[in-house]
Amino acid sequence: MNPLPTDQLLAIDRQHVWHPYAAMPNPLPTFPVKSAQGVHIELEDGRTLVDGMSSWWTCIHGYNHPRLNQAAQDQIGRMSHVMFGGLTHQPAVQLAQRLVDLTPPPLQQVFFCDSGSVAVEVAMKMAIQYWYNLGKPEKHRFLTVRGGYHGDTFDAMSVCDPVTGMHHLFNQVLRQQYFANIPQIPFWGVWNDTDIQSFEQLLVENHGKIAAAIFEPVVQGAGGMRFYSPDYVRRARELCDQYGVLLILDEIATGFGRTGQMFACEHARVAPDILCIGKALSGGFMSLAATLTTPHISQVFSQGDAGVFMHGPTFMANPLACAVALENLALLDSYDWRSKIQQMEAQLKAELAPCRESPLVREVRVLGGIGVVELREPVDMAVMQSRCVDHGVWLRPFGKLLYTMPPYVIEPRELSCITQAMVALTR
Ligand SMILES: *Cc1c(COP(=O)(O)O)cnc(C)c1O
Repeated sequence: MNPLPTDQLLAIDRQHVWHPYAAMPNPLPTFPVKSAQGVHIELEDGRTLVDGMSSWWTCIHGYNHPRLNQAAQDQIGRMSHVMFGGLTHQPAVQLAQRLVDLTPPPLQQVFFCDSGSVAVEVAMKMAIQYWYNLGKPEKHRFLTVRGGYHGDTFDAMSVCDPVTGMHHLFNQVLRQQYFANIPQIPFWGVWNDTDIQSFEQLLVENHGKIAAAIFEPVVQGAGGMRFYSPDYVRRARELCDQYGVLLILDEIATGFGRTGQMFACEHARVAPDILCIGKALSGGFMSLAATLTTPHISQVFSQGDAGVFMHGPTFMANPLACAVALENLALLDSYDWRSKIQQMEAQLKAELAPCRESPLVREVRVLGGIGVVELREPVDMAVMQSRCVDHGVWLRPFGKLLYTMPPYVIEPRELSCITQAMVALTR
């Protein structure tokens, strides 16, 4: 591939290439990237940005990591892909074993998926088919909380926040789900059962129709970057058990250390019946996600008419993605990531605190490696985006949120570049 001149690249990009959540034609400006190394993104014009986004929570060990590159190259030399129907291979099996070891003990079965949205679809299909196999096909709806985000495919969308999730566009086709109020008690707040009252009420009234509750434990990500009480997760687990409803936790954003625990559900000391993981699992290399479940659930698929689980993506358990993910988890194992995240949390708290003095700022919140400045008014994305670049950092503000979740390997002085930019941008 010979590189195009930058102006030509941008012209074709504007005319033909559809970007995420973008208009076409006439999208907002994009910044052409030449390469990326460690926590730095190098633009075609030679500017270098400190990455505050980890490429949407994925690239926890930085770009162009020699060990991840090596793992990919070694695997390319053996095979980049084989179908997973009827075949199996070292990368998938070893990664599955590693995931079973890392996740809460009840989770023993691993279903590999090609993206987070698919992992959510798979989780929801698993729950529906579980009840179907048990002779309760009427249990096929889902209970969730407002303010969530679970991906952009249809059933994942059906459990996203009904307002920010653009339900009005797809109302005719989205399955109707049950929405409890947004959890209000913050992460460090004192628990009060009233916070989960609407969730409980929906269970009381509709548990006969509900297959599972599904939500993001402790951190609501793209739906609003909110941190809420682990006691909510703990109580939800109890209520699901009480009313005979499965619990699906979506840890696609929170998994693998981001909140200070390996999985956010560990803050609440609960295990779900079904767990969705993705994003950081991949090391930011190529798309990979997984849905894990318990022997109790999976064994139902070995009985009855609709025995097998009806799902099997073409690129399921892609060997390259699995080999890199395995090395990414080995990397995570090779240093004290817990203290690294604690340091990041302390630094984000200290250095973002001055944002509170700005009249533009409604709230500043930090948990683990996530720093959020919530503004009073929505940002002009194009303006804010280029101001971030002018400050030498890569952030992707949306709505009223200016936020960062940097790679774990970021150095304190590089993290300061990000926090200084965030402080400056809220002046
Ligand atoms: C990103 C995300 C998804 C969707 O993952 P994709 O890989 O983008 O399909 C689902 N759930 C949560 C919590 C996410 O953050």
